[in-house]
Amino acid sequence: MTLSRHLPDETATQAFAQQLAAALNRLLPSPTGISISFSGQLGAGKTTLIRYLLQTLGISGRIKSPTYALVEAYESAHFPIWHFDFYRLSATEEWEDAGFRDVFASQGLRLVEWPEQLPADLVRYDLHLQLTLASSSDAGVNDGTHLAADAAPARLLQLQAHTNVGKQVLHNLTHD
Ligand code: ADP
Ligand code: MG
Repeated sequence: MTLSRHLPDETATQAFAQQLAAALNRLLPSPTGISISFSGQLGAGKTTLIRYLLQTLGISGRIKSPTYALVEAYESAHFPIWHFDFYRLSATEEWEDAGFRDVFASQGLRLVEWPEQLPADLVRYDLHLQLTLASSSDAGVNDGTHLAADAAPARLLQLQAHTNVGKQVLHNLTHD
């Protein structure tokens, strides 16, 4: 089960994050928690999307990228949230030593950038979100006109459900 969205600019990313937050709010707190992985090259917009998601879930203040700390923890009104970035994770032992196994077995929402850094069978993700930079032809701007120097390329978002909980989130997203 997959959902695809074209995100022409950051405002569209923000709007999607707000819809995703609403879809998650309808399922959380869930006894097993929800894990979402975020894939895409550096600069694809993973952290940006997660920032908008956290803001919509009521997290105020500065939302730091956890690239160096590996994780930032938050508390929404009704459930804990962990924002992971495994880009700098060097070994599975580091994951074990940090106690992340317990976090992934608990309630709450887990948002994971760079899931590829861990063995695939270590974490079961309910949803896999992929961001891709759309080529200029995909974005409909390959018409001979010149892009403004500050124009950012559009993003293509794909969201795939891997569990029943993930499917429910996708269902909520498509049946507002
Ligand atoms: P990542 O976490 O994937 O490495 P970041 O979110 O840190 O990426 O950076 C993405 C950059 O691209 C930000 O500077 C953001 O402002 C910019 N950007 C431009 N267009 C978009 C878009 N449609 N969605 C998300 N980010 C965008
Ligand atoms: Mg990031």
